[in-house]
This record gives sequence, structure tokens and C-alpha cells, in this order.
Amino acid sequence: MFSYRHGFHAGNHADVLKHTTLIAILRHLAQKEAALTVIDTHAGAGLYRLDGDYAHTSGEAADGIARLDAAAKPPGAIENPSPSPLKHLAADALAPALRDYLELVRGFNTGGGTPKVYPGSPFVIERLLRPQDRLKLFEMHPADAKALEGNIAQLDAGRQIVVSRGDGFAAPTPLLPPPSRRALLLCDPSYEMKIDYARVQQLVAESLRRFATGTYAVWYPVVPRPEAHDLPRKLKSLATQSGKPWLHATLSIGMPLARELGERPGLTASGMFVINPPHTLKPALAAALPQMLELLARGAGHGQKLETGG
Ligand code: SAM
Repeated sequence: MFSYRHGFHAGNHADVLKHTTLIAILRHLAQKEAALTVIDTHAGAGLYRLDGDYAHTSGEAADGIARLDAAAKPPGAIENPSPSPLKHLAADALAPALRDYLELVRGFNTGGGTPKVYPGSPFVIERLLRPQDRLKLFEMHPADAKALEGNIAQLDAGRQIVVSRGDGFAAPTPLLPPPSRRALLLCDPSYEMKIDYARVQQLVAESLRRFATGTYAVWYPVVPRPEAHDLPRKLKSLATQSGKPWLHATLSIGMPLARELGERPGLTASGMFVINPPHTLKPALAAALPQMLELLARGAGHGQKLETGG
């Protein structure tokens, strides 16, 4: 049932989009004093080695965080991790949301070289938690759940962070609404099974029914599959039916350069759909997305899009 391991994909372009968006949302939500509950329905292992076997085999971080990190260093300071020519932007020219993301990842890496450790969503969120906030993590893969439990135990966070092996599509809804009536739910499944697309919709529909003012962030792959194509349209309908605003951002880095075409292109594009986005998210991504594209684009089919409604 579970063949997907995020370790093969950690730090890729999809993580750059997802985690930049996640940080921008959390920065805004943390401005209000009242406690926030963050639910990560598909948490993964939490921390990943980019120089370990998994990441090394796929090399996906080379077209994501490693490329962004190198692009924000002076030319020649670090070897280009990817075969596509590297553009440079001074770190202080980066859009604030992208710089915030890069600095958070660099915080897990000392020494200034190419990042070797990548924080998954649990650790991205944990870095931004305040004492009054709570984090609920769900992960069902036995090996990743065990790794996540071990990684979280090191934080000594007590009851502030709870790891559950429950089903991330079903177990989180009873947690809504939390006592403080402030919550962010991140839904980031692997979409290994076609039914995952329908289960995302069910989760969002049920969550909105229980707690219409929560913020719901869904990541999805842009792949030639009807369910993937329909998902943002269906989420838009759910938001509209509930009378709630939404934001939809997509990033495509395009196909690998011709000389690499012998290899499988892997995932070339993904999207984030956010219901009840903070009002600061649109301007943050409007500045960050064009730079993500400029720095990460490889070849044919690259592009970015940001739309909002409601
Ligand atoms: N959110 C993580 C991050 O950004 O670092 C990555 C998560 S990865 C894309 C999806 C994870 O969901 C995998 O680790 C997989 O084992 C797990 N998973 C799959 N089905 C699940 C389910 N029904 N409930 C909870 N976790 C599940």
C-alpha cells in the first residue's frame, strides 16, 4: 500500500513551493496572540538527509532547495548542484517569503555549504510554533512514523507536539474546531492511490462543515491525470459553497534539458490550494513565485500562476 517515501523527494521544487507557502501562512497566523493548532495530516519522517541514499538516488533536491541555495550565493561560491545553468540573485534581492524559507532551511545546516539536512513540514512548522500553539502530526507509513516519532522525541516538546499513526484523511476532523478556534490544516498526501484525490475533498468538505473559519492548505501534483486536474476545481467549489476566500498557486519547472531527456523527468509541476488564506499570502507569493520560477525553471513547460477568489 505504501511505496511512497518522501525521502526520495525531500527539498524538490514541490517542497520549495509547499514550504514557502506554509511559512508565509504561519508567519501571519502567529501575529495574533491566541493559541493556534496546526494539523499536518500527512507528516512524513520530519527530517531528511540530502546526502543520504534516498535523496542521492533521486537527486531531486538539486532542482529545488540546493539550486535555490546556490542561486542566492555569489557566483562561484558554490558548485551548481543541477545540470541547468544557474541564475544568481543576491540574498537580499530575494522576495521576503523565499528568503524566509531559505533561512529556515539554512538554520538546519551549519557551515554554509549545500544543505545536507532538509526539514519536512513537521519541522518547518515546529520552528514557528509559540509556547501556546499545538502541533498534531499524522503519519501512517510504519518506517516514516517511527522516524518521525524519534525525530520529534529529540525536541522534548511534551504535549505540545503529538504524533499519531492514525489515518490523516479521517483522524484529524474530530480535532476541529480546536478550543481557541484558530487552526491551520496542511493536507499533503502522496496521491499514490487515485482515491486520495477524493479523500482530500472529503476531508476539506468535512473540515469546513465543522469549522468554516479554519485555514486549509492542500498540496497536489500537477500530473496528466483527470483527478489531479479536477482537484483544484473541486476545492474552489467547496470554498465558494462555504462563502470562503481561496488562493491557488502553481509552479512548473518544466522538462529537464534535452541532454537529460533519457532520464525520467519526474514531477515537473505542483500546486497549493489554500482556503481562508491570510490576506498577506497573495502579495507574499506574488513576489516569491516569479523568483522561484526564474531560479528553478529547467526547460519546456515552465511557468507559474497565482489566482485568488471568494
Ligand atoms: N508533509 C510532508 C512534508 O512536507 O515534509 C511530506 C508528506 S509525503 C508527501 C506524504 C506522506 O503521507 C508519506 O510519508 C506517506 O507515508 C503518508 N501517508 C500516506 N497515506 C497516509 C494516510 N492515510 N494517513 C497518514 N499518512 C499517510
